[in-house]
Amino acid sequence: MQLVLASNNAKKLAELRALFGSLPVDLVTQGSLGIAEAEEPYHTFIENALAKARHAARACGGPAIADDSGLCVGALGGAPGVISAHYGGLVSMQPDREATRRVQDGVNNAALLERLLGVADRRAHFVSTLVALRSADDPEPLVAVGRWPGRILESPRGTAGFGYDPLMFIPELGLTVAELMPAQKNAVSHRARSAALMTDLMRQAWHLE
Ligand code: IMP
Repeated sequence: MQLVLASNNAKKLAELRALFGSLPVDLVTQGSLGIAEAEEPYHTFIENALAKARHAARACGGPAIADDSGLCVGALGGAPGVISAHYGGLVSMQPDREATRRVQDGVNNAALLERLLGVADRRAHFVSTLVALRSADDPEPLVAVGRWPGRILESPRGTAGFGYDPLMFIPELGLTVAELMPAQKNAVSHRARSAALMTDLMRQAWHLE
């Protein structure tokens, strides 16, 4: 079954492809089908994920899945939250999508460090909210939420992953997320947790084996 991913983030696609490896789904990005990105106007992950999945399902005429994810820092009232992707302000387009993402990640990480200057409580968690629909009018969206707690460092460490990974320290592992191999991250991340729950939901509700 083809499942359209309502995102064009290549790293997210790679992570989700690995995580859904046991399901008979062919995950393709909406961009590869010429589907434009949806608006994300809401204040919660669940509302944005549903809006993105519904937009993709309507445009492709079939099943779609969206991941709305981000970083929540307790001392900042849950920020960056739903604006994690552009917390430091939107950067200008670079020669390609990946270059733009890298520059944007750097600006976001700098903004986070600035807002946490002098803040002692640096507890944070990543959240992944997955919403899957069989069609745009599906009355029963499948919803799975994964959380991954850690602590924000005062300077970045590591080069793997994306987004806030170099600042997110996982105490049990003694490493930042950017110091993990992709397979290690995929075994324990917020997306690993939401994808495991979603895999079970799809098996039950969509009868995928
Ligand atoms: P979304 O594409 O609207 O879900 O935005 C997700 C944003 O949250 C990304 O651009 C990153 O800034 C951040 N984020 C989500 N997942 C991760 C992760 O696994 N590592 C680091 N940052 C993440």
